[in-house]
Amino acid sequence: MSCESYDWKAYALGELESSARAEAEVHAAACPACREELAALRLTLDALSTLREEEIPRRIAFVSDQIFEPRWYQRALRALWTPNFAAACVIAGAILVHAFHAPAADPAAASAQINAAVNKAVAAEEARHEEEVDRLVGAFSARESAMYVKTAGLVRQ
Ligand SMILES: [Zn+2]
Repeated sequence: MSCESYDWKAYALGELESSARAEAEVHAAACPACREELAALRLTLDALSTLREEEIPRRIAFVSDQIFEPRWYQRALRALWTPNFAAACVIAGAILVHAFHAPAADPAAASAQINAAVNKAVAAEEARHEEEVDRLVGAFSARESAMYVKTAGLVRQ
């Protein structure tokens, strides 16, 4: 058989049946060109096996999804737009507005105005935060007492 009739890739991957395998081995023993090809294939396979297995990036795996994915600035905005960031924006906005509207003649009055605006924004944010904590604590204790009632019922039985 000629060299072209041997599938060295299948041989190196162990995909040949035992008869074809034995035949290929007999040929390789007598053919330096095929031995060289087989050695090169094995080297490649060894190199591949040492590579870390990595998850295929989503962008490559689902090319069609890209159209529906948010753009980078939308994702960044969504990640940044937490309540704290929103509060910081309110405060920054208040500082800017008052900086431009404050009478330049009296720096002390301007600074007091800015402080008042900042305090107001901070107080509003704190009140909102407190409300949220109260709501969570309320929900938690309601659940806890419901669980206590359930447990008490089980103990009584
Ligand atoms: Zn050969």
